[in-house]
Amino acid sequence: MKKRHNFLWVIMAMVLFAFAFSKEFLPAMHPDEGISSSLSSSDEATSLHFINVGQGDAELIVCGDDAVLIDGGKASAGSTVVDYLSRQGIAELDAVIATHPHEDHIGGLVSVLDAFQVDAFYMSDEAMDTDIYEKLLDAIDNEGIQPQFPDIGDVIPIGDSGAKLTVLAPGPDSADTYSKSDPNTWSLVCRLDANGCSALFTGDTTAAVEKDMLRTVPNLLPCDVLKVAHHGSRTASSKDFIQAVSPSYAVISYADGNSYGLPNHEVFDYLEPLGTKIYETAKDGTVVLQLKNGKVSLAA
Ligand SMILES: [Zn+2]
Repeated sequence: MKKRHNFLWVIMAMVLFAFAFSKEFLPAMHPDEGISSSLSSSDEATSLHFINVGQGDAELIVCGDDAVLIDGGKASAGSTVVDYLSRQGIAELDAVIATHPHEDHIGGLVSVLDAFQVDAFYMSDEAMDTDIYEKLLDAIDNEGIQPQFPDIGDVIPIGDSGAKLTVLAPGPDSADTYSKSDPNTWSLVCRLDANGCSALFTGDTTAAVEKDMLRTVPNLLPCDVLKVAHHGSRTASSKDFIQAVSPSYAVISYADGNSYGLPNHEVFDYLEPLGTKIYETAKDGTVVLQLKNGKVSLAA
């Protein structure tokens, strides 16, 4: 009897062993599957769309089936952004980022939240007492999600694409330059890494915050593409910062004849000697750049 028991235990152990190491039981640990799927997603180009929203900012990042929107222009540009996203075949956004709560950045996001499924919403951790800010909070709430307030160093993945955004500002190191009375200093600055390329999205950050970033994250500043800060205002884009980023491509988003007189000439004075290709939404309309195999190109 004792021998027979031992024999049964051996059979049971073998069955359990075979089951535990079958592919179905351990799909996540199968190394070939992980490698092949990450290779195929990185082969797909990433596109950056600097949407012409007049005076304001709206940038769409598309990596395969994944998409992230940074800012949405003024409320009056909401339908422009919604139509543009629809024409790109987008039904769902993995994330929306509001760099800071000025109307020319968050106004259009209310329409975007109404029109599309938004999986995550990131914004500055500082409230603003305006109607459009309240409308934005309501629209986020209606989406059934909670806003998230990222800190410097936080990483925002772009779906499953392998592309990611890293938050470079503001952070605790910006405490001296962060001003409650100037929402531009709250701007979330994000670095995109995708397809062996990089891009810097600066919102309306200021020269003082740029100085902080030169000190705190100097290695993360050199980028292939720069969304020029604050519509080309001289309140940002200091010479040292532009030289540290040293972009091959720069895009300035603004409306012709805007009352602020933007962009200022200094940004061209600093970018042109670097050989940077400069695009302006007021002159070029929506600008689309493709990132693939470590190279940036203007989409046809
Ligand atoms: Zn702005």
